[in-house]
Amino acid sequence: MTENFNRIWHQHAADLIQRGIDGRMVIDGRRWNAADGSLFDCISPIDGKVIARVARGKAADINRAVASARAAFADRRWAGQPPAARKKVLVAFAEAMRDARDELALLETLDMGKPIKNSLSTDVVAAARCIQWYGEAVDKIYDEIAPTGSSALALVTREAMGVVGAIVPWNYPMLMASWKLGPALAAGNSVVLKPSEKSPLTALRLAELALEAGLPEGVFNVVPGFGHEAGEALALHMDVDAIGFTGSTRTGRRMLEYASRSNLKRVYNELGGKSANIVFADFDDLDRAASTAIGSMFYNQGESCNAPSRLLVQESIADAFVEKLAALTPQYHPADPLDASTVLGALVDETQTQTVLGYIQAGIDEGAKCVAGGCRALQETGGQYVAPTVFDGVKNSMKIAREEIFGPVLSVIRFKTEEEAIALANDSAYGLHAGVWSRNIDRAVRVSRALQAGTVHVNQYDEDDITVPFGGVKQSGNGRDKSLHAFDKYTELKTTWIRIDAK
Ligand code: NAD
Repeated sequence: MTENFNRIWHQHAADLIQRGIDGRMVIDGRRWNAADGSLFDCISPIDGKVIARVARGKAADINRAVASARAAFADRRWAGQPPAARKKVLVAFAEAMRDARDELALLETLDMGKPIKNSLSTDVVAAARCIQWYGEAVDKIYDEIAPTGSSALALVTREAMGVVGAIVPWNYPMLMASWKLGPALAAGNSVVLKPSEKSPLTALRLAELALEAGLPEGVFNVVPGFGHEAGEALALHMDVDAIGFTGSTRTGRRMLEYASRSNLKRVYNELGGKSANIVFADFDDLDRAASTAIGSMFYNQGESCNAPSRLLVQESIADAFVEKLAALTPQYHPADPLDASTVLGALVDETQTQTVLGYIQAGIDEGAKCVAGGCRALQETGGQYVAPTVFDGVKNSMKIAREEIFGPVLSVIRFKTEEEAIALANDSAYGLHAGVWSRNIDRAVRVSRALQAGTVHVNQYDEDDITVPFGGVKQSGNGRDKSLHAFDKYTELKTTWIRIDAK
């Protein structure tokens, strides 16, 4: 049964590639080649083969896309529709995504190497739910009247900003795009999306599905291309009102520079992480703590911004806990992403593989003890596979504890006291997520309050929902994706004073 299922995905993939994957950009509701005709190869990390040739957008293409988005905003073809009408289109868009589930999941897996099981059951499902949720929210948001007294009315209304540039990474290509598209489109903006050059395919297909669902032309444009070309041109553009960025802290810094060099556009940065997951000796179910620590770390090959990559374990239980980790890790052996039973797929490309292997070597050189993995795997496939790796005896000063690796590498750091655990967790440039495992309610609350992080998980690490904000503090960024709070990013508040004369 499973074997048949696996053959089916390989067959689907072969058929899709054989038919040809359309890599042209989407501007003003139509497919286009790049203005200068350039293309780049889309290489699957599953086996190193070229699966599509994609238009390489540059400044001229960005200019065209921004002009199209601006024209759509100016004539109010989308922003001018009542919220209930925008809701109808976005709900239809979400439904179209669900209808195209197999194709979207396959494109995502072929493009960036995540297991097909996850693309199907998580990425497409969560991305569609995101679009639907914002669509359904938008006709339930009321404007405000400020409590200013009786001689005048002060209306506080939310208005769409205009043209939003969305620049997203490759680790969850469709989901990260949806986190920008959902609130930005629901609020009435036009969007120019620049997907990562490492994973542009699902974004292009999403634009087509949105058009089929009734989104007017020009409201959602997609320009694939490289960061220093298409990305820079979009972030520097004088007619873009806001940038919703998700990516590395390094590039997030650039986004702020581009804004300061251009029109001071709003910049919302969702950046990297080095999240601390703290296990106290008083937690009574160490098997669950260990399997969650491992499962959350190795999910998506460790290519998750909120991966709990620093595991802080209290000294008295550390030896036994590390043994559990080492025993569990082989369950996450890398395998063919198109096999339905695979839990850990391919890293996105050779550069990422080399980066991860470089960090593993740095861990060894600095004296950390590799207790699982530590090497490349499945090299005969021509793909990008690294064995899930666990280091014990890591010091928080080591490179593997300070820098975001973005691969399947877990660092175990031992601590003695609660104060030490908090100090170690907060001794990081990042502040995205954190975890606390303790049965002592006072300790769990005390530590959660003291942690510098946008999200703290208590006695679990995998809860997530569109209803809650997602984002970080410190160098993990300044914005919040998801939840109603995301509307703050893509709307401006306007105050209108209306005098009420006495009779
Ligand atoms: P990246 O910063 O290299 O690229 C992200 C996007 O920015 C891509 O589309 C890229 O083409 C573009 N870009 C790169 N250089 C640019 C430049 N000079 N000018 C304009 N655009 C440019 O990041 P990545 O490697 O694609 O993604 C991984 C990073 O994303 C990790 O740090 C991860 O933690 C972070 N991330 C954060 C979140 C979050 O919600 N906080 C979610 C997912 C990923």
